[in-house]
Amino acid sequence: MSVVLHEKIQDVREELVFKTAVDMAGLFSEPPIDPLFFFGIYGLRVEDYDFIDSQNIEAVTIAHADGYITLVNPMFREKFPRRYRATLAHELGHIVLGHFSMFSGQEQPGDFPEDTKKILEREAWEFAGELLVPGFMLKREKTLDLKKLTDTFQVTKSTMEWRLQKNGLIFSDFPEENFWEK
Ligand SMILES: [Zn+2]
Repeated sequence: MSVVLHEKIQDVREELVFKTAVDMAGLFSEPPIDPLFFFGIYGLRVEDYDFIDSQNIEAVTIAHADGYITLVNPMFREKFPRRYRATLAHELGHIVLGHFSMFSGQEQPGDFPEDTKKILEREAWEFAGELLVPGFMLKREKTLDLKKLTDTFQVTKSTMEWRLQKNGLIFSDFPEENFWEK
């Protein structure tokens, strides 16, 4: 099967990701930002799904003729609620950044070339981070107390460390991959 690329993506579109996330976060006056709110206002469906054979799958979004459906693994919501919020924000990122409309026909992101998939994944995580912990809100907190910040923004410690670093508020060699940690 050949995949036709309408828009060639060479790298993470930092500006688009940032602007989209900040505009959306701006609808909230203070943290925590609830990603489900956006699924609601955009009329996007979210449903629990039993990923029987692959319990480590957190969520999957599928594009169909009438829109999108995001299937979520309820186990993650129960065991790792903060991680779950990040996963919802990530799936939202794929949708609002137009990842599903970059390709023609019925292709799903799973069919995309490997290098493109990596960039789109990265964009969705960057979006999730900026939406859940917008720089403008983070700077308003005027504290670097990790416990306080993670509770205020309802994110994991690794997400918060990543956001603090990204916003130039801490300087460490914290590896970005740890954001994927539960
Ligand atoms: Zn993804």
